[in-house]
Amino acid sequence: MVHLSKCPLCDSGNITNYLKCRDHFLSGEIFELSRCRSCGFVFTQDHPDEKDSAKYYESDEYLSHNTGSGGFVSLIYRISRKIMLTRKRRLIVRAAGMKTGRLLDMGSGSGHFLSAMKNAGWDVTGMEINDKARSLSEELFSLKVIPPGRIDTLETGTYDCITLWHVLEHFHDPFFYAREIKRLLKDEGICIVALPNAGSYDAAHYSGSWAAYDVPRHLWHFNPETFRLFSGKAGFHVKKILPLPPDVFYISALSEKYKGSGIFFIKGIIRGIWFSVRSLFRKHRSSSLVYILGNKTDSA
Ligand SMILES: [Zn+2]
Repeated sequence: MVHLSKCPLCDSGNITNYLKCRDHFLSGEIFELSRCRSCGFVFTQDHPDEKDSAKYYESDEYLSHNTGSGGFVSLIYRISRKIMLTRKRRLIVRAAGMKTGRLLDMGSGSGHFLSAMKNAGWDVTGMEINDKARSLSEELFSLKVIPPGRIDTLETGTYDCITLWHVLEHFHDPFFYAREIKRLLKDEGICIVALPNAGSYDAAHYSGSWAAYDVPRHLWHFNPETFRLFSGKAGFHVKKILPLPPDVFYISALSEKYKGSGIFFIKGIIRGIWFSVRSLFRKHRSSSLVYILGNKTDSA
């Protein structure tokens, strides 16, 4: 169990209880979120330490959609994945200002994103903690994927782009990985980080039932202000913040389910539309955000 008596972002001891959340996904256990009164950072208090956290991931759900079996849900899933892969590739091309280059994806899962980038001409490497996912990405797509413990073997200053799609919130030591990202990127390289937004309309609405708190797998619950603070401390500057629109429907439906709604799918879609419309006018309150980071030195 890891108890944080100081804010991991600003070191202030002025922290307070914020919310109680249940692990609806797996264990059913309750975890407390704490909030720093000085900088506003929210984090999962008394979370399992790194060696004990594996059991909170012991579900086949992460990989179940990749088996290629038929069915309508599986079809919808594969279509939306294809759309998202195209959007991610375009986002990278635009943000990096190059059509191809060297890419590292942290938390690469079973490798569908990396494979799409490889097919588009990128020189790709993955990092993935899950053994099954790692061997799947090697078998399915012949990708080079390392476990996190071997990150030191990657060559300094050689990557144009490093991506973290909903993974930073899982890292036990995000500052360690931020330092590694800094080491691995070229001077003009960019880092793309997608995160749930604890400052979103849906987070405020669902409170402790908000599915993207996902305790104890998610340890850090950033909003644009606290992520800016984190980035600055890690030696980056936030070049751009973009919403990731489809996430709100999934998160809302799951949150409705956690609240016990029998028609969670329909309610989630309706709520999702409402949150999306509102966040059209205030993008920083979208359910998920994508942050594009550059080295601090190349800021204007
Ligand atoms: Zn703080």
